[in-house]
Amino acid sequence: MRAIGITKTFPGMTRPALHDVTIGAGPGELLDLMGPSGSGKSTLVTIINGLTKPDAGRVVIGGEDVTDRAPSRRPTTTMFQQDNLFPEMSVAGNVAHPLRLAGASPTHVRDQTEVMLLRLGLAGVSDALPRHLSGGQRRRVALARALVSRPAVLLLDEPLSGLEQGLKAGLLELIDQMRRRLGMTVIHVTHDTPLALATADRIIVLDRGRIADEGAPRDVYQRPTSSFVASFLGASS
Ligand code: ADP
Ligand code: MG
Repeated sequence: MRAIGITKTFPGMTRPALHDVTIGAGPGELLDLMGPSGSGKSTLVTIINGLTKPDAGRVVIGGEDVTDRAPSRRPTTTMFQQDNLFPEMSVAGNVAHPLRLAGASPTHVRDQTEVMLLRLGLAGVSDALPRHLSGGQRRRVALARALVSRPAVLLLDEPLSGLEQGLKAGLLELIDQMRRRLGMTVIHVTHDTPLALATADRIIVLDRGRIADEGAPRDVYQRPTSSFVASFLGASS
């Protein structure tokens, strides 16, 4: 995945939310996107998934330019802090939904849904409605639904913030397994410096719509290129 020369100014804003930002992450790579509130992390995520149209720049996934493609036609899925499960659909219905939407055959839908439910430990609750699940189970359903269509790029916009540490670690472990198994690129927006140091292959720190620093987490942490980056990473740990 590459996002190249991305610039975006929202109507009424005096400065760009993103200014000529270029990022890249390969298959199987975990890239953590960091930076203070308002630095442009979510805007970058929605430009990659197609929900926001950039003023300038291109998005390339798997060698294909997807800049002008609708969100539903991009090989990306996004998890937000809200799990957005369909309340009237069973667990299995929620997980199957993206495949049905894409017009997959009933056999494929059934098989893939079953595989995801098993892998995420949800087989026993497949007929339950989301409101009857625990918080941890709901997150796992959201993850199963995000992964069922085998996206090339999984975008995580702080879907784990607010969760207690044990649950968070468990979900990250599942995401990690799937990343390795599917060779999926994962872009993870997080404020959690210790977590980024422990898990990310690379981090990018945004500051007011520009890249302030990037590299292997240890390198950036130990040799930040500015006092802004040093204090941001330090304050978040
Ligand atoms: P972050 O996710 O790092 O907190 P955002 O990408 O949400 O930052 O926001 C970057 C800047 O763009 C902020 O100044 C925010 O107010 C502005 N912004 C984001 N989305 C919109 C929008 N839909 N309309 C207008 N301004 C927006
Ligand atoms: Mg955000």
